[in-house]
Amino acid sequence: MDRRYRKTIVAGNWKMNLTPSEAKKFAASLLPLNSVKYTHIALCVPAIDIPAVTKALKNSHLAVGAQNCHFEEKGAFTGEVSVPMLRDLNVKYVIIGHSERRQYFGETDETVNKKALAALAGGLRPIICVGETQEQRDAGVTEEVIKLQIKLAIKDMTPAQIRRITVAYEPIWAIGTGKTATPEDAEAVCKFIRATLRSFFGARVARSVSILYGGSMNEKNAKALMQQPDIDGGLIGGASLKADAFTAIVEASK
Ligand code: PEP
Repeated sequence: MDRRYRKTIVAGNWKMNLTPSEAKKFAASLLPLNSVKYTHIALCVPAIDIPAVTKALKNSHLAVGAQNCHFEEKGAFTGEVSVPMLRDLNVKYVIIGHSERRQYFGETDETVNKKALAALAGGLRPIICVGETQEQRDAGVTEEVIKLQIKLAIKDMTPAQIRRITVAYEPIWAIGTGKTATPEDAEAVCKFIRATLRSFFGARVARSVSILYGGSMNEKNAKALMQQPDIDGGLIGGASLKADAFTAIVEASK
């Protein structure tokens, strides 16, 4: 991490876990993290939990995030949630293009781009996820895959918009598997992501973007990962549902 140029962010991705009542209680148990000043903390929760979590976190610095949004402002899109709806509930971040959304819900690089642009236009901060499969890593095409995902995700964005995105590097083989990328391997890809942004937008813009690592990050491996120069925090799945582990990860980002 490099706090001279960009924010350190630790974001929890609760996925499809916790009912609104459970979410309210769990969010309240994380309130001691409000004393943390060195890192921005976000809880990306199921859409239905947002009002309860917002209430629990009222008057704290902990931000609420969503896990998805639609790219249209409103209309005949049954079951979807729009950016203005999220903004109305004081949501700050939205995860876009998580590999589970790409894998199970047909999300493509094109919809990722449309959603990220809609989020920016509507005042949300997108956390754009990219990552390679095990097969792609084994075939030695990780950089090509990541470069294409980044290039398509940020299509038509202005430099000012790029400054408001966060990128999460989440190797698919590491998500929910207990297999974590080594700090060196994760740094190599995060550095490559920054170099890709630099090639499009120049050094000043590229150095202002927070790049997170995600994939079985836990209280034991968090520090070594976040000490890498181009890893500016974490997107945490499983461990974000355990108060002790999530707190320890936030503390490891100091
Ligand atoms: C995630 O879902 O974004 C994630 C990183 O999950 P986990 O930490 O459980 O691997």
